Amino acid sequence: MKLENKKALITGASRGIGRAIADLFLAEGAEIWGLGTRPPEDLNSRIEAAAGKFHWISADLSDVEAVEGISTQALKEAGTFDILVNNAGITRDNLAFRMTLEDFRRVLDVNLSSAFMIARTLGRDMIRNRRGSIINMSSVVGIHGNGGQANYAASKAGLIGLTKSLARETAPRNVRVNAIAPGFIETDMTKALEDTLKEKMVEQIPLKRMGKPGDIAGTALFLASDDSAYITGQVFAVDGGMFM
Ligand code: NAD
Repeated sequence: MKLENKKALITGASRGIGRAIADLFLAEGAEIWGLGTRPPEDLNSRIEAAAGKFHWISADLSDVEAVEGISTQALKEAGTFDILVNNAGITRDNLAFRMTLEDFRRVLDVNLSSAFMIARTLGRDMIRNRRGSIINMSSVVGIHGNGGQANYAASKAGLIGLTKSLARETAPRNVRVNAIAPGFIETDMTKALEDTLKEKMVEQIPLKRMGKPGDIAGTALFLASDDSAYITGQVFAVDGGMFM
């Protein structure tokens, strides 16, 4: 097992990519604190199945001012964290010229500012312990941009800058910080898209399919474990070859 005796905080763990990461990390021996606005519907059975190794924190990361308190409390409960996965994310899509400041700010708050605040709190502890892995969930649109997603793309590009800057600051203390840039993944976030648009997008993916949450979880496991002990400050595109 690759994460035996490790403790991980995973945001946005109620469904989709975050849930797949939590499941894989649990299977690899980690103790998990999942965080999200609402608990997953099967929370009780998940806690039971994990034999006490799955904990849940209900919190709204759009309230950035509250995030330091939330992460300090989580740290107190867990004692320490070896792994942080900043995965929670939202979209509020619109053409830039129609986008409200409120929608721009909200996406930045949840996707970027909260990730910074959690990383700051948990990162301090990791630095003291001289070990840790922080994984930020960016997106290919943070690298390449996307019409209709100025707020989302800015937040995901911001996560890449945050990843590289934190990586430089924390590397001397053996804390690694990396980002994953998923392509087009089958989750609630992409479910609402029209079938014709999905088909068009899949045509542009060399591997000819949408990604599955498990495809991202595998990369997160690699980055959380000692298999990537000599890797920091990197962005891993997991996109079926969409952008080469
Ligand atoms: P999803 O919508 O299925 O899940 C999002 C998760 O974030 C949920 O657990 C939700 O509770 C949590 N969340 C949302 N707003 C929150 C808030 N205010 N406070 C706390 N938690 C909140 O999305 P997903 O597709 O699993 O996406 C996970 C991450 O991957 C996101 O950061 C997303 O931007 C990124 N991503 C997804 C895709 C894709 O194609 N699905 C592509 C690139 C990047």
